[in-house]
Amino acid sequence: MTFLPLPPPGQTPLRVMTIAGSDSGGGAGIQADMRTFAMLGVHGCVAVAAVTVQNSVGVKAFHELPLDIITGQIQVVVEDIGVQAAKTGMLASAEIIGAVADTWRGLGADIPLVVDPVCASMHGDPLLHPSALDSVRTELFPIATLVTPNLDEVRLITGIDVVDEATQRDAAKALHALGPAWALVKGGHLRSSERSPDLLYDGTDFYEFGEARIDTGHDHGAGDTLAAATATALAHGYPVPDAVAFGKRWVTECLRAAYPLGHGHGPVNPLFRLSRDA
Ligand code: PLP
Repeated sequence: MTFLPLPPPGQTPLRVMTIAGSDSGGGAGIQADMRTFAMLGVHGCVAVAAVTVQNSVGVKAFHELPLDIITGQIQVVVEDIGVQAAKTGMLASAEIIGAVADTWRGLGADIPLVVDPVCASMHGDPLLHPSALDSVRTELFPIATLVTPNLDEVRLITGIDVVDEATQRDAAKALHALGPAWALVKGGHLRSSERSPDLLYDGTDFYEFGEARIDTGHDHGAGDTLAAATATALAHGYPVPDAVAFGKRWVTECLRAAYPLGHGHGPVNPLFRLSRDA
């Protein structure tokens, strides 16, 4: 694949922030985001929203950070270091979503924001209180440049069960109606398909992305990685469809390089870039 340009040594790289949860197993969440940022040559900044007690088998517990600590991380980084794009991942509660959305609006900056509305882990363990779904719709989606739900998240947020192309379009429209500039309906869990058909919608046009499906038991962190790579491409000034296409290619290569870890699901692997450079 063609990578994004790397900054020359000594030159300040572009900065991308993740506002998300920590995965103690190192496969998803902030840890996945930071690996992708590093491997793509941008400087990653972090606002930790929650800490999960997690391994390859599941999420045992999580702890939410105080609201002022979460929003403080965003404010001090944006004021001093400056970021060219950001993404959200696990935000855990309605209170955190409200505080993050308020802070983001308060910045008054035109920074592209990718919202990955993380609701549960691949093991089915909750990463968002069910009572927070309404805040996802009313607070988080309206500030998003792009939302990137998987099919389970689409069902929870819109009530639409995506089973084919027609329902995927309905879902894209329903998501877009909640306020983001762009909605991506990831089809990776449409098991009937040989490809991984994702559908992007901006309220006018549909864009389809059909990378090959990589069937691996080790896809922990795939959603985070797609959103992080897409945000990175947005930081480079890519238009949204090109940024999504880049994110898709990146996560596909990370899936090809995924490895077993522990007794459950291993992580996608952005470090493939170390051995296969452009
Ligand atoms: N843990 C954290 C902190 C996450 O942010 C996410 C996903 O965004 C997950 C776990 C779940 O990742 P997966 O669905 O790939 O297991």
